[in-house]
Parts: sequence; structure tokens; C-alpha cells
Amino acid sequence: MTQLIDGKAFADKLSAKLADEVATLQQQHDLTPCIAVVLVGDDPASAVYVKNKIRRCQQLGIESREHRLPADTTEDALIALVDSLNADDGVHGILVQLPLPDQINDKAVIAAIDPDKDVDGFHVANAGALAVGQNRMVPCTPLGSMMLLKDTVGELSGLHAVVIGRSNIVGKPMAALLLQANCTVTVAHSRTRDLPGICRQADVLVAAVGIPRFVKEDWVKPGATVIDVGINRIEEDGKKRLVGDVDFDAVAPKVAAITPVPGGIGPMTIACLMHNTVTAAKRSRGIQ
Ligand code: NDP
Repeated sequence: MTQLIDGKAFADKLSAKLADEVATLQQQHDLTPCIAVVLVGDDPASAVYVKNKIRRCQQLGIESREHRLPADTTEDALIALVDSLNADDGVHGILVQLPLPDQINDKAVIAAIDPDKDVDGFHVANAGALAVGQNRMVPCTPLGSMMLLKDTVGELSGLHAVVIGRSNIVGKPMAALLLQANCTVTVAHSRTRDLPGICRQADVLVAAVGIPRFVKEDWVKPGATVIDVGINRIEEDGKKRLVGDVDFDAVAPKVAAITPVPGGIGPMTIACLMHNTVTAAKRSRGIQ
């Protein structure tokens, strides 16, 4: 029997714990965690992501401050806003929704965020800390993926993990976390030779590619655990659908456990953003 890894249920449990923690912080420390969410332009997918994040904040008692800027905002203007949020003691987390319009260099904007408020975990100081095993702010999608993996598999030590994708947002931090869990890690990308053969060696297969149903049934080892990070919007039989990077219907019967799309990694990403915001708020006051 294949286990369907229920990311939504796990995220709901994590969120309930965080809501309790927020209530305690308010009662005992007069501290309300606060995240500033910055959205530049009118990309519809980004607007949906921001809406979902703000709704989750409200459910947990986390304060959210939304900053919507026009699509023609300059890099200087955006960095000036980030600077003001860095200086605001009432703001514990800063999230600048990516992608940004072409005239803005996202690396410059991420570099401007105070690493202690970088709840996305994208600042080089946080990426470097993760690389040397001194985790500070860990990017939300890999963090949530690891939580689900540990909950599903238990001990990961010695397993061969294959990560398809090497982005700074998902693939690289995912590989770092798997290495910290003592997996043997292979990172595959668009130049990898014999990708199906490499995937077939994986006890744990993480797909973060951005191509609908990319991973085929004959790429997976029977009994493997599959984490599908992909979120792809497709149109099929005249209907709009969300599908992952794994050919779910064909792969699922062959593996021990797999995350669905939707309902797998997506909800965990938002829950981990809340987790990072609460952590940032506590650190700002030196609360353990
Ligand atoms: P990127 O486009 O930044 O990275 C994609 C990676 O896939 C790259 O490393 C690329 O290799 C690799 N790749 C592309 N084509 C191939 C191929 N044919 N064979 C092997 N590797 C290939 O994407 P992200 O990492 O930002 O996102 C990946 C997916 O995860 C997307 O579907 C995205 O929507 C989803 N996502 C989901 C989140 C969630 O909350 N569930 C959060 C963030 C992302 P190369 O480096 O060589 O170009």
C-alpha cells in the first residue's frame, strides 16, 4: 500500500502549535510576531500566494503588514522600503514576493533584507549558515519537505537521496538539509547525464524542476519515498489543473510514500513561513 503523505494535515497540526505559541508570546511577553509582505506588480500567481500567506497569519494571530507597490517600482524605491522595514522594531519578518519585475535585481533586494528578518531564508548569510550546518533561517519549502520526510521515513541516515533541481530556493537548501540528516545526496539538474538511471538509485527522490509530470514511472525504485515540490498550472480536457513534477498516477502505485499535488508540499511551505516568523520574533527578544 502506498502512503499518501498528507502535507495539509501536517501543516494544520504545525499551525495549531504555532497559534498556541503566538498566544503564549502575547500573554507572557507582550509580543505579537509580525511579518511585512511586499508584493510588486500584479502577477496573478504571486497575488494568490500573498493572499494565502496573509490569511494564514490571521488564523494564527500573527500580524501581517501588506505593502503593494506598482509594477514600475524602481529597485532603489524597493530597497528603501526594505531599509525602513529593517529599522522597524515592530516588524520581525520581511518577505518580498518573487519573481520581481525585470527592472529590479532580486539578488540586490534579498541582500538588503536584515538576515535576522529574512523569513524566506534566501539571504547569503542564511544560505551560508545552512551550508556549514549552523542553520539560522532555513528556506520554507525545503524545511517543510524535511519535516514531512522525517515524519514519514523516520531515520534518514545512510539513505541515497536524489534531488532534481539546484535552485537557491529549493534544490540547494534541500540537498544541504538531506546531507545534515546523513543521507548520501546526489543533486541532478538540466545537464545531468542519464537522469532516469540516477533517479532509479534513489531511496528518497525530491523533484523540484518545474516541468509537469516530468518524473516517470520507470525512473523510480520500488519502495522509494517521493517528495514532489513542483507546482505547475496546466490545462487538460478543457479544465485548469495543478500538477506536480512527478507523473503521480503512474508513479504512486510503485513507491512506499509520495506527496500529492496539491495538498503536499504547498501547505507546508506556508506553515514553515509562519514557523520562521515566530522564530524571528522570539529571537528579536532573546526568547528561547
Ligand atoms: P527553478 O526553475 O529555479 O529550478 C529548476 C531546476 O530544475 C533547475 O536547477 C534546473 O536545472 C532543473 N531542471 C530544469 N529542467 C531540467 C531537466 N530537463 N532535467 C533535469 N533538471 C532540470 O525552479 P524552483 O526550484 O524555484 O522550483 C521548482 C518547482 O518547485 C517549480 O514547479 C515551482 O513552482 C515549485 N515550487 C513549489 C513550492 C511549493 O511551495 N511547493 C515553492 C517553490 C517552488 P539548471 O539549474 O541546470 O537550469
